[in-house]
Parts: sequence; C-alpha cells; structure tokens
Amino acid sequence: MADTTPAWERVRGIVPVSLCDWPGKIVCVLFAGGCNLRCPTCHNPTLAWNWQMLPTLGRDGVLTDLRRRRRWLDGLTLSGGEPTALEGLEELLNDLAAAGLPIKLDTNGSAPAVLERLLRAGLVQTLAVDVKGPWELYPDLTGQTMSAMDALGRLEQIFELAREFPDRIYFRCTKVPRLSEADLVRTRAQVPSDLPLVFQDFVPAMT
Ligand code: SF4
Repeated sequence: MADTTPAWERVRGIVPVSLCDWPGKIVCVLFAGGCNLRCPTCHNPTLAWNWQMLPTLGRDGVLTDLRRRRRWLDGLTLSGGEPTALEGLEELLNDLAAAGLPIKLDTNGSAPAVLERLLRAGLVQTLAVDVKGPWELYPDLTGQTMSAMDALGRLEQIFELAREFPDRIYFRCTKVPRLSEADLVRTRAQVPSDLPLVFQDFVPAMT
C-alpha cells in the first residue's frame, strides 16, 4: 500500500531499540521531520528543519518491522522534530497503534490542544513534554520562536492536563549550556511540585 498521508512522508528516522527513550521500557523510536521552533541547541537540526534531505522510511516497511519485533518491545516512541506539527498525526498514530504497542509521544509543549485531543482519543499512553527553562529565557532558548508569555500560557494548560490524566504526562528539561544551575532551580520551581520534571544531559548535535 502506498504512503497516503503527509505524516507518514515525514517519518524519516528510526532507532530500532532504545533503553533510554521511555523510562523503564524497551522501545523503538520513530522520528518525524519538521519543527515549529528554532532552538539554537537543537539535538537534530537536519530532522527539524531540513527533513527533506533524509530518506523516507515508508509506512508498510515500518509497520511490518514493528509487528515482527512486537514481542521484544514494550512500546514505541514518536519523536521529532515536533510530532504535533504533523498534518495527519491522528492517522499516523492509528496506524502505529495497530502494531499493538503502547505509544509515547515527545513534544516541545507548543500545542496543548493537540495533546488534549490525543489523550482524550486514547491515541497515546504517555507524553514527554519539554520545559525549555525559565519562562523569561524562552525567546533565547527557542531562537525567538516562543515568547515567555506564550510558553507560560501553553505549559500551564499542559500542567492542568497532567492533573486530569495522572501518570500519563511527565516533563523534561535538557541542561543546555545556556542554562545555569540557578536557571535549573528556577525551572523546577515553575513546574508545580506535584508534577514530575526530569533533567536530562545535553548531547550536542552530530551535524
Ligand atoms: S523543539 Fe526540539 S526539535 Fe524543535 S528546534 Fe527545539 S530542540 Fe529542535
């Protein structure tokens, strides 16, 4: 069957087995190209902004591979880029769900309405949401693509969602060089104390 959706055309990367992309689980990670932000410390700038340069994986090949390896995997992570920016995201997730694996989605937190829709529809089991740093540093941290007010407003909607869907959403902050120890403390303080925030090490992009 031919690829039919733009979302499938953007699936341009795979890590067949990962032990560190969904805490406690062995997962396959798929990467979808394209991102609405321009973080200067982006971990995968080619995928985020020049995804057309990468080869497509193809719907049928990916689904066949996942079905074949399903018994050795605990789940699947859809990362990016920014998956919520994909046209046809729901169709993509429906296709992936047919492989019989729970799905975690990684997101930069810019689209709370999309995340709410996915949770209510049962299309994802877990969300990992970026908190880039203190609100006032968001313009710097996102290449001037998200203001402090915008970040605060969007993340506050996701905090509410996290309370409505307990244990389904966790927050992540990458310790990029721009963030001082004091910034990390402020980042923890701006996320409600009853919600999980994981700090992860910064790994420079290969390209
Ligand atoms: S949100 Fe993620 S993928 Fe997008 S530019 Fe920032 S680091 Fe890169």
